[in-house]
Amino acid sequence: MNLVLFGPPGAGKGTQAQRVCDQYLLTHLSTGDAIRKAIREKTPLGRQVAERVEHGELIPDDMVTGIVDAFIGSHRSQTDSFLFDGYPRTLRQIEQLEGVLEKHRLTPVAVVSLEVPDADLMDRITGRRVCSECRKTFNIHSLDTKAIEACDVCNGNPPLIQRKDDSPETVEERLRVYHAQTAPVLHQYEMMGKLSAIDGTGTPDQVFERLSAILSEQY
Ligand SMILES: [Zn+2]
Repeated sequence: MNLVLFGPPGAGKGTQAQRVCDQYLLTHLSTGDAIRKAIREKTPLGRQVAERVEHGELIPDDMVTGIVDAFIGSHRSQTDSFLFDGYPRTLRQIEQLEGVLEKHRLTPVAVVSLEVPDADLMDRITGRRVCSECRKTFNIHSLDTKAIEACDVCNGNPPLIQRKDDSPETVEERLRVYHAQTAPVLHQYEMMGKLSAIDGTGTPDQVFERLSAILSEQY
């Protein structure tokens, strides 16, 4: 099974990706992690990517796909099942992924998009607080309300803070970028008959149940 998972910031994509990988024995291909690793290890491709990043430029499709291809190449002997996270992000990358799958003799991807209204995402993300001492995260909208005032690990000494990334202005921009970037890609997968949109609201268990229903149907 090969799966492409989409989800806006705050939709819990990371949690769902982890659970899907555990349950269905997929290898998690986080494109962001793979790119950072290539940069760190100074692979030939990593050096090229690093140069773009240093200049504040977008990483070209060919390079991103090259990283994905290399990741699959290094894991292919152990697995034939991948969860693509953060890729493809452009129409060109959709095409390139088809080529990569063929090259490594992998089955076509199923595509799942977690759908959560922007207002909910805004609440979830702007409700996050981080302990300034131990970095434990809390949510002021969660049921565990006694954790709101102070960190239970540090006995309430350091104040809980909101990360800059979680401020309303930043979240609004992150959501705008996500939708602008993802809409054409989702549309293309929809045209290809591969897209399943699922309701991403509710508890992680509820979302996983819906996700599992889709995956069991297809595999
Ligand atoms: Zn703490």
